[in-house]
Amino acid sequence: MTLSDRLGRPLRDLRISVTDRCNFRCVYCMPREVFGPGYAFLKRDELLTYEEITRVARVLVELGVEKIRITGGEPLVRRDLHELVARLRVIPGLRDLTLTTNGSLLAQQAKRLAEAGLQRVTVSLDSLDDAVFRAMNDVGVGVETVLEGISAAGEAGLWPIKVNAVVKRGVNDHTVVDLARYFKGTGIIVRFIEFMDVGATNGWKLEHVVTGREIVEMIDREMPLEPAEANYRGEVAQRWRYRDGSGEIGVITSISQPFCGDCTRLRLSPEGELFTCLFGAKGHDIRGLLRGGASDEELRERIAAVWRAREDRYSELRTAETAGLPKVEMSHIGG
Ligand code: SAM
Ligand code: SF4
Ligand code: SF4
Repeated sequence: MTLSDRLGRPLRDLRISVTDRCNFRCVYCMPREVFGPGYAFLKRDELLTYEEITRVARVLVELGVEKIRITGGEPLVRRDLHELVARLRVIPGLRDLTLTTNGSLLAQQAKRLAEAGLQRVTVSLDSLDDAVFRAMNDVGVGVETVLEGISAAGEAGLWPIKVNAVVKRGVNDHTVVDLARYFKGTGIIVRFIEFMDVGATNGWKLEHVVTGREIVEMIDREMPLEPAEANYRGEVAQRWRYRDGSGEIGVITSISQPFCGDCTRLRLSPEGELFTCLFGAKGHDIRGLLRGGASDEELRERIAAVWRAREDRYSELRTAETAGLPKVEMSHIGG
């Protein structure tokens, strides 16, 4: 029996955020005025252990999850992440295990992550212009470091690699075409993401959003594109193929063309709360159950009840007012 939410959507994907910490301070995600030295990050004993995460993941796979993405914060700042990968990898029924990272620590870790069973990676890289990229990550990490991470991932066999770029008007929109051109023909798929009103600290305004349509038009003018079919129902990115056959790009249009109707994603926060929407204000605590001695059956019942009650479709209902409502931070729940 397939578990469905109130809008008939099955549970298929799990995103696990393993930490709320990050070594970057991307202006659109963890602005340093907010995430400065006084910011109260989670304490070590508040985080789910790898054992606890794996137990929740196993139950979720039994309930229908096929794909797991590890994220954060920056997942590679959590110690020995490959050990979590190795535990998740052997869950019976799991089809796909991937990771989203800012790439700054990937050159050192790609090989051992692949050996532990990681299948693919998505690396965030917002611009190839070093000055623009440094200004966006706001910690002075250069483009070269991330490119080294990407090539280490390639050598370790973590294919197909995707590159995520958030586009913010007036900040990096003039570098979109260069980014697309650089990866064209390499097999690496760049996915351009509309700047979203996640969290409550990134000063989001509609005028900062460059729509997927604008992005496709910019690229198409120089390197002609045609639409491609979705790989599967619920795919987040819209696919566009280069007409000369040299690969594809994606656009993630959660602002201009929301896709809640196909949203099959559940998110687990670092301290063990389940979020049924990226834009949720409150999660459902699971850590209490884990640490209170609940059986697998009790866990399963609780989690299934959370999914059955789900009716989120934030992006379809977004208005100027909802953008200002309290929401979980992206750096906490992990994109
Ligand atoms: N630190 C890792 C990274 O940057 O890839 C993983 C976590 S990060 C929160 C996951 C993705 O969310 C990244 O690709 C990032 O660019 C994207 N992201 C963060 N804030 C965003 C925003 N306001 N709008 C759109 N995407 C955002
Ligand atoms: Fe860190 Fe990723 Fe957020 Fe940038 S987008 S601040 S790298 S969590
Ligand atoms: Fe899914 Fe919520 Fe995003 Fe809609 S707004 S696609 S329900 S995460």
